[in-house]
Amino acid sequence: MLLRYLLLSLCFLVSCQHKEQTQPKPTRLYLMLSVDWEGDTLRSANLKALANFNKEFPNYPVIHFLNPAYYTKKNFLSPAEINKRIRTVLKPGDDIGLHIHAWESLIRSAGVRFRDRPSFWGPVSLGRGGERGDDVPLNTYTEKELTQIIRHSLKLLSDNGFSDIHSFRAGGWTSGPKVYRALVKNDIFIDSSAVPAELIANLYPGTRLYELNHKLWPDINLMSKPFKLIVLKQNFYEYPNNIGLADYVSTENFISSAKKLIEDGKKSHAKNLYLHFGWHQESAVEYFEHTKEGGQKLVQAHFLNRVEKGLNELQVLAAEQNVEIVPISLSHYQKLFFEKNNP
Ligand SMILES: [Zn+2]
Repeated sequence: MLLRYLLLSLCFLVSCQHKEQTQPKPTRLYLMLSVDWEGDTLRSANLKALANFNKEFPNYPVIHFLNPAYYTKKNFLSPAEINKRIRTVLKPGDDIGLHIHAWESLIRSAGVRFRDRPSFWGPVSLGRGGERGDDVPLNTYTEKELTQIIRHSLKLLSDNGFSDIHSFRAGGWTSGPKVYRALVKNDIFIDSSAVPAELIANLYPGTRLYELNHKLWPDINLMSKPFKLIVLKQNFYEYPNNIGLADYVSTENFISSAKKLIEDGKKSHAKNLYLHFGWHQESAVEYFEHTKEGGQKLVQAHFLNRVEKGLNELQVLAAEQNVEIVPISLSHYQKLFFEKNNP
């Protein structure tokens, strides 16, 4: 009996070792998804598409970067209706973050002098839906003004039940040192505005939006992971949007970049990889495009579909490459990598 037990144990050990030799431990790919809510429209087609995404990908947490300009826009929906619509696409485990485009109504309601220039696209704001400012880089404002705009934005969201906010993304990814300081003064210690500038050039080459991002984020690329900074003597974290948003990145681009990330990661024997993709609520399946005549027209989009196809293809790629996809929220990643030794 004892001999049989020893033999069995030996077999078990040998088989385990054999398994380890033939199947190395998978590389972990931490996958983060974020949605920018621009403060512009809350159209049922886009919201339905987001709700459908949740049904198809229930285990993929999403960071919702909310712009409070929905509450300050003139002739828009009631706050109760805005809240109801936003909540149709929030699921347990998702994060809420803050997103600011400098819309005129939001800036004025914060008690700050509105600036209508420069724009991402030219000398003066083109505006959208009858209001200006969404295309004015956030870091055009002074640190004092930014502190006030962020404080007011957080209050607007908190008054509407969105109070657990610990992260931020600037409209057009235009944060940087001045915005970081204004965030810290409002107890926000996480930014996710860093982006590889060449992704902007995919869609808007030669624009100020591209130039600004090129200057702000010269060292950010596909391999960039979340990193720690010190801002006003406090720990501050930047979570790069290292594969951009779907408007700028086709499914083919997404998969070829993911392949490169995995290959480069394996070459450098990385145990963990990081990929942060996303989309805009306002352009998930339809959006208003600027026309050459200066107006806007509603066009169909396939941006959320790009994400869904990309995630499905990524699962196939991961299985081939012995990579384990770990969909993760920002708050969970923060706990796992930055707070575990730092209670
Ligand atoms: Zn935005």
